[in-house]
Amino acid sequence: MNITSLSQELNISVKELRQKLAEAGFRVSPRARKIDNILANEILDKLKPKARVVESVAATVPKKIAIPAYIAVRDLALLLIVPATTVIKILISNGVMASLNEQIDFDAAAVVASELGFEVVEETEKFAGGSTVAEVIAAEPEALLSARPPIVAVMGHVDHGKTKLLDTVRKTNVIATEAGAITQHIGAYRVLYNGKAITFLDTPGHESFAAMRARGANVTDIIVLVVAADDGVKPQTLEVINRAKISRTPMIVAVNKIDKPEANQELVKKQLAEAGVMPEEWGGKYIFVPISAKQGMGVDKLLDMILLTAEVENFRANPEGATVGTVIEAHLSKTQGSIATVIVQNGVLKVGDFVSLGTAFGKVRSLEDENSKQQRQASSSVPVRITGLSALPEVGDLLRVHASVQDAQTNAKKLLLSRSAKRLAYKTGIATDKENQQLKLIVKADTNGSLEAIMQELSKLENQEVALTVVSQGIGDINESDVLSAESSAATLIGFHNTILPSAARLAKQKKVHIDIYDIIYELTEDITRAILQLVIPEVEHIVTATAKVMAIFRTERESMIIGGKVTDGKLIADRRLQIWRAGKQIGEGKIAELQSGKLPAREVPSGDEFGMKIATRVALEKNDMIKIVDERMKEKQLTKKVN
Ligand code: GDP
Repeated sequence: MNITSLSQELNISVKELRQKLAEAGFRVSPRARKIDNILANEILDKLKPKARVVESVAATVPKKIAIPAYIAVRDLALLLIVPATTVIKILISNGVMASLNEQIDFDAAAVVASELGFEVVEETEKFAGGSTVAEVIAAEPEALLSARPPIVAVMGHVDHGKTKLLDTVRKTNVIATEAGAITQHIGAYRVLYNGKAITFLDTPGHESFAAMRARGANVTDIIVLVVAADDGVKPQTLEVINRAKISRTPMIVAVNKIDKPEANQELVKKQLAEAGVMPEEWGGKYIFVPISAKQGMGVDKLLDMILLTAEVENFRANPEGATVGTVIEAHLSKTQGSIATVIVQNGVLKVGDFVSLGTAFGKVRSLEDENSKQQRQASSSVPVRITGLSALPEVGDLLRVHASVQDAQTNAKKLLLSRSAKRLAYKTGIATDKENQQLKLIVKADTNGSLEAIMQELSKLENQEVALTVVSQGIGDINESDVLSAESSAATLIGFHNTILPSAARLAKQKKVHIDIYDIIYELTEDITRAILQLVIPEVEHIVTATAKVMAIFRTERESMIIGGKVTDGKLIADRRLQIWRAGKQIGEGKIAELQSGKLPAREVPSGDEFGMKIATRVALEKNDMIKIVDERMKEKQLTKKVN
């Protein structure tokens, strides 16, 4: 935001504004013409409290708020007790365009909430029969804890040099490998520097972090924020800063591309200071390391600083404790089935261990490191690829070791149930064709791998009751032709890890085609399962809950009778409707108008007891007739697996 527009919004001159900013303790350079939107909103909040409706509302509600991994804009507004337009405005000012019903991730929601003065905590998923990694480690005896290598995530704006830095670090500090070892991308790798190990996550970016978040998982000990000195602070730079702050992860700044003539380190420092990341040399707490990822300059210093931070933070685990870890990557292999890369975070993971990983389980068949080398076991901070799993886990899922495969399965199942229950709270927009009992989909995904995984999961949902048809499938973003084919085939468009092109979004709105974008496979399959279940015609079950025998007729009236009887099975309950049976055939219906037991009015009469009853009915009952109370229940919907 321009400083002039800010001053206009506050109705003061630029000079007054600068003065007020200094008084209020905002660190804005005296010559700054522009300030980033997050800071601008903070300033607006502080200097213009009454004009902002939200401030007064926020003041009346509890300040601490738990936000889930994903939340619809509408729900966030309800949670924060502000108009949805306020939420949308704040999102836009932070570069996030989202409509009322769109799901935003925790980070975006947290930015909104904290701008409205809330203290944000993350609603984490509690694992069945267990807890988070942090809780497992906290429960370990202090004396058994020992230092473990730090796990580092390299983050920053696109093209600022994350990949280059990861390459340089890996090439110059490889852990000695045997001849012929092939390095492979498994989502993380270890380096040995000055005799100490460091684990680097090499899935830079946004998506895996957001996916971790979805599970309340956190594997990152230290964030290295890469900022190109020739480009400065950019929107994704600010996003990383927010993440680090919200998750309280220590952060080191790598000012990259200093070999370039146009590099301006001072400007980067100034911009970061304005964004609340004050360099140590200016009295702040952040370490800045100038580097050239391309030429390898300063990379050693950066590794030194990582080790120093690790020493200060004292990351520990119990090598003999309960084995836990987090899934950082998962994919399907044609030959080996579900494969997951896990970073072990406590204990030791061994071949043959019975494991659950989120909703998947199995017996570890093999452990392979980043150099394609088979390992017998893996200790804390070590990334390994494991095979032998029942299904594909999700990124961020917790790995636990169990005593038996049954225990592992039970754990996985429990989690599946609790996740489904949670997801039920969300409405799906998947269009169903009730008349023909069919559900048609057009599926587009970011990569062949994801598409394959989705198709495999969808094939598991095939059943005899509802026709699930994938009209077409493809790779890439959702475009106009996808919308048109969804319209002509009356299908729902499903996207996975991709976006809707603006022209397609416009067309979809016009044609009333529904598009759902998913980031997590199980959410997609759950929504579809639910849509299928909605299509299954419910069956009504009749359950006899009580039977009684008519022993005596006391009075017969036109619309009712008074009888005496004995409960032979179940329990008679006042006010219930009943069936009247004679010689094995139903001859009519009625309703219990009054019920007595031992001459006193009764709500219930149990099996074996005698009773008096006034029945509202037109049937003339006789001695030895049977009375049955029948409950009608909707049969729980179940799908029959399709046999091909
Ligand atoms: P990412 O999108 O953050 O992963 O960025 P990349 O690592 O792909 O780098 C983007 C571009 O910047 C590539 O062309 C790199 O070769 C280049 N680059 C990265 N680091 C440096 C550096 O230190 N100096 C120079 N001159 N170029 C760099």
